[in-house]
Amino acid sequence: MTVEDSKPQTVAVVGAGLVGCLAALAFQKKGFEVTLYDMRPDPTLTEDRRQKNLRSINLAVSSRGIAALKYVDEEMASRILEHIIPMKGRMIHDITGKKQESQLYGLFGESINSIDRSFLNECLIKEIKLAGVKIHFNYKLVKILGLEKPDELVTLSFVHSHSEFHTAKYDYLVGADGAYSQVRYQMQYFMRMNFSQEYIDMQYLELYIPPNNDPEASSKFSIDANHLHIWPRHNYMLIALANEDGSFTSTFFSPWSVIESIKSSDEWLTFFESNFPDAYKLIGSEQLAQAYDHNPRGALMRVNVYPYHDPNGKALLIGDAAHSMVPFYGQGMNCGFEDVRVLMELLDQTNLNVNEAFQQYSDARKKDVDAICKLALDNYKEMSSKVTNSWFLLRKKLDYTLGRYIHGRLIQWLPLYTMISFRDDIPYSKAIEIEKRQSKILSRIQYGTVGAVLVYATIYAAKFWHKFNRQN
Ligand code: FAD
Repeated sequence: MTVEDSKPQTVAVVGAGLVGCLAALAFQKKGFEVTLYDMRPDPTLTEDRRQKNLRSINLAVSSRGIAALKYVDEEMASRILEHIIPMKGRMIHDITGKKQESQLYGLFGESINSIDRSFLNECLIKEIKLAGVKIHFNYKLVKILGLEKPDELVTLSFVHSHSEFHTAKYDYLVGADGAYSQVRYQMQYFMRMNFSQEYIDMQYLELYIPPNNDPEASSKFSIDANHLHIWPRHNYMLIALANEDGSFTSTFFSPWSVIESIKSSDEWLTFFESNFPDAYKLIGSEQLAQAYDHNPRGALMRVNVYPYHDPNGKALLIGDAAHSMVPFYGQGMNCGFEDVRVLMELLDQTNLNVNEAFQQYSDARKKDVDAICKLALDNYKEMSSKVTNSWFLLRKKLDYTLGRYIHGRLIQWLPLYTMISFRDDIPYSKAIEIEKRQSKILSRIQYGTVGAVLVYATIYAAKFWHKFNRQN
């Protein structure tokens, strides 16, 4: 359904990041007149990374993200998905450099997919331009007026190119301006919005593994491209995801105290070589020293907001502006894309009544957003240390085996990772409910099996002892 027949209603989307771009395209497809604003310069017009002002992070795109892209535009989705690199499981690198495939992600060969965040953002901006959405770069939102009066338009004020002011009025406003959202800040003047922001004691530093330039080599990738590589070291870890050109974007995560205790690039090289000897060779000492000296240390935080809409149903927060989460379940963007799909479905259900859709959105989305934010935090423990624990790996194997063999129409066993990453039809909160039930069964089987082995071993030992005593 679209609003083309009546006078088009106007929507401003603030933030041309991943989620804002998808939201702008989705509204445009429904027949709204959309204008997209971003404070950055247009990243598609320059090759210079610093001017693009984008961090090089590789994202794992999974089912929910893909489903939302397809929901908005099937053809666009296939143009973008051409560039992804499937990752079928985790590859664990131990301290001696030995590699072990620890867990396949999908039960039946499903993969999560690596893509460079800035590349994806540029793809979406190009799609925005193709679709004819108005887009203004170098426009920084500074003020919102008119939210408190139900019949007034929303007035947005921007600073343009550092000095000029620009004001524009719209029927509706979507805030997709990221974790430090100005839209959110401005909305708080007019309404009772619960808001909390919590930094976790963790930083990340971007590193880069170059393509394999050895002309004799069979692959342009120096390690397997179809795995998410993890170097778990309990207190800190390194990960690497492949890029199309044969390089890997690698990220070092650690508590702030770890990185701050390293005082020079020489100390950094010593630290890195002793903890990640194989990665040290892949990245090279020159690249590593350069990254230490020049790359920023990123902070990680959670943002919790409720409600996401204003009481008059004229403005809405989506993406990181509504729920910034730590990156350890690879769901921040996937969840933001799903926000767009959920919103569009509500628009359909309300016959394109934006007001009503905005008002229903907060209740429809809250418990799922809370669920994935918590899972993301819990998954750090799993990635950084549990993946080396035999008891945990045994449990995962059992979970995975049950998933593979119990998948009828009436009874299904669904590992949590499958539900989060490969099933866009199971809401995040429902996935947690199912996991809780399965987890109890899993514990019984695991403890039961160990118990049975112990009982069997005791009986066997008793028999042996009895026989031994009789013979002597
Ligand atoms: P952003 O990408 O932050 O975009 C916000 C936009 O708003 C920016 O372009 C900004 O310039 C603009 N803006 C801000 N303020 C204003 C203003 N006042 N006026 C105008 N414009 C403004 N997610 C996954 O799904 N999978 C992953 O594997 C994954 N890995 C990650 C790894 C790391 C290390 C990190 C840090 C994040 C990861 N994420 C991942 C999360 C993902 O990157 C974010 O959830 C996603 O980028 C959020 O998109 P967004 O559009 O909501 O916000």
